[in-house]
Amino acid sequence: MGQITLKQITKSFGDVQVIPPLDLQIEDGEFVVFVGPSGCGKSTLLRLIAGLEDTSSGEISIDGRDATEVPPAKRGLAMVFQSYALYPHMSVRKNIAFPLRMAGLDKAEQDKKVESAASVLNLTDYLERRPGQLSGGQRQRVAIGRAIVREPAAFLFDEPLSNLDAALRVNMRLEISELHQTLETTMIYVTHDQVEAMTMADKIVVLQAGIIEQVGSPLELYHTPRNRFVAGFIGSPK
Ligand code: ADP
Ligand code: MG
Repeated sequence: MGQITLKQITKSFGDVQVIPPLDLQIEDGEFVVFVGPSGCGKSTLLRLIAGLEDTSSGEISIDGRDATEVPPAKRGLAMVFQSYALYPHMSVRKNIAFPLRMAGLDKAEQDKKVESAASVLNLTDYLERRPGQLSGGQRQRVAIGRAIVREPAAFLFDEPLSNLDAALRVNMRLEISELHQTLETTMIYVTHDQVEAMTMADKIVVLQAGIIEQVGSPLELYHTPRNRFVAGFIGSPK
């Protein structure tokens, strides 16, 4: 579970093609980082995989199944939104249980899954609090908990740490890496931050203007960048 294949996918908005034909293979259990400057198409690519945008052409398959016609909720993928996407009037327990309640699970099943996710995320003592009573990092963990309970084939993160301060960002980076080791689930992580890409990824996809400049491990990109753009981007901190 969690193998994603993009074949010759394109995306245009009106007359503007923001993703020219693009191929990419993501293996089960990989931590893949999409990195590139603002406006290069990272979010668009993630939204195409999630099904939140339709491709203009090409094929997306998830675990061997053509996903192009499958609506977002049925793709088995969980988007992790930034912490402000929590419901402020609901407890942490209810926020995490939200997708399970929508899916019609009974209360006992909801509680079991919520408590198991809370234990992985060190949120057990905070289940009855509201998001406003939590720190930024705890709120971010609640948002991740809401994805975990769905037991997705892959997690999709779009710059999840961009609202957090620098110290917390370092912490959450480690926590997300640990979560990946615990769950062994495919994760696709979008960032414009080279340090996040270099420290978190099994595989980095460097994008510029919708084009994949290079795909490789952090070491491969660092030691054998294919061109100046990759070298400059990976080599120079922002
Ligand atoms: P990134 O996430 O890398 O910053 P995006 O994927 O958000 O980049 O955007 C890629 C390009 O597509 C940008 O030029 C952006 O303006 C354009 N774009 C994104 N979404 C839309 C949309 N809904 N309508 C028109 N243009 C869009
Ligand atoms: Mg973006």
